[in-house]
Amino acid sequence: MAKKVKTFAEKAMGKKSDAPVCPKCGEAYTPILVVNSEKNEEDNQWKFARKIAKLCKCNEKEVFA
Ligand SMILES: [Zn+2]
Repeated sequence: MAKKVKTFAEKAMGKKSDAPVCPKCGEAYTPILVVNSEKNEEDNQWKFARKIAKLCKCNEKEVFA
């Protein structure tokens, strides 16, 4: 029997049945990791803020903008 390997998305969301569904398109959101880089004006260092964004057909253009 093949061992099921959880994807990153499944781990982030937990059980699939708990995944929030977009009220607009009715698709379950896909969690993706978004990395934003920001430059600190004080010490000129780049910092990277990572967050999980919920992606569906409605907002994919905004998330990747
Ligand atoms: Zn949607």
